[in-house]
Amino acid sequence: MRLVTSPTDIKEVTERYHLRHLTVGLVPTMGWFHEGHLSLMRMARKNADKVIVSLFVNPIQFGPNEDLDSYPYDLERDSRLAEGEGVDILFAPEKNAMYPKNFGSTVSVTGLTSQLCGSSRPGHFDGVTTVVAKLFNLTRPHSAIFGEKDYQQLAVIKKMVRDLDFPIKILGHPIVREKSGLAMSSRNSYLEKGEMDAALSLFRSIQKAREFVSKRSAEDVDAAQIKSLVHNVINFHRECEIDYIKVVNDTTLEDCHKITKNSLLVLAVKINNRIRLIDNSILKGS
Ligand code: AMP
Repeated sequence: MRLVTSPTDIKEVTERYHLRHLTVGLVPTMGWFHEGHLSLMRMARKNADKVIVSLFVNPIQFGPNEDLDSYPYDLERDSRLAEGEGVDILFAPEKNAMYPKNFGSTVSVTGLTSQLCGSSRPGHFDGVTTVVAKLFNLTRPHSAIFGEKDYQQLAVIKKMVRDLDFPIKILGHPIVREKSGLAMSSRNSYLEKGEMDAALSLFRSIQKAREFVSKRSAEDVDAAQIKSLVHNVINFHRECEIDYIKVVNDTTLEDCHKITKNSLLVLAVKINNRIRLIDNSILKGS
């Protein structure tokens, strides 16, 4: 595996791949790899001749009071893990190389970004789409893999690719969970022992909601019933502050009132005002 840090060098690498007619799969990440990231790398491996993983803690997608400065980072550790997955290139640029002093452009997707994480984290998705558009231009992938854990992000990227005609296939990977059910996240490393139960309440509430739906015919279930059930499970934990609990259509991300096979439960919860966790699940079926 080769470590590339300069945008000029990565452009040269991808140019050579294209000249050799090799397909490229990209996995954009912010590092501190866990099994979720590694599964995305394996999916990329299956879909392309060459796999590029980007590791960049993108400052412009963090709000002023968020965890940019404490975000876990260990390039050596992550290099080892990526190499173990047969990744060809780990692209880990410096902040100044991605955003030089005179940088002044934003890629902004409207519509899908005004709700859920978009309303709790103003500017977040502009930061995401801007960096992902840059990564797409630098690495010119044929396919790019994103996790369904960040469901709204995946939907926004798909829209950006459609709207702006990027010739890239966007593939979503199902959520990878710990044995306990906790959705894997680099931010889980902030959790202290005593906070685990509260963190697990997201998954437990999802299980309860799915169980509730499975025992009834869907048209008999209101989103309001699901939200109230989920609210009760999470709110039981003093450490939890609910950012949002919503049932939305899995394509438009607009609120659902009745449960259908396209109803997606989406959650964002802050633990002890320090750790923001998200999770989601389709309510009916697999
Ligand atoms: P991050 O490094 O957190 O920005 O994540 C990089 C990519 O990995 C994103 O596409 C995430 O959605 C995906 N990802 C993170 N955690 C998981 C998980 N538990 N399961 C599946 N994909 C994940």
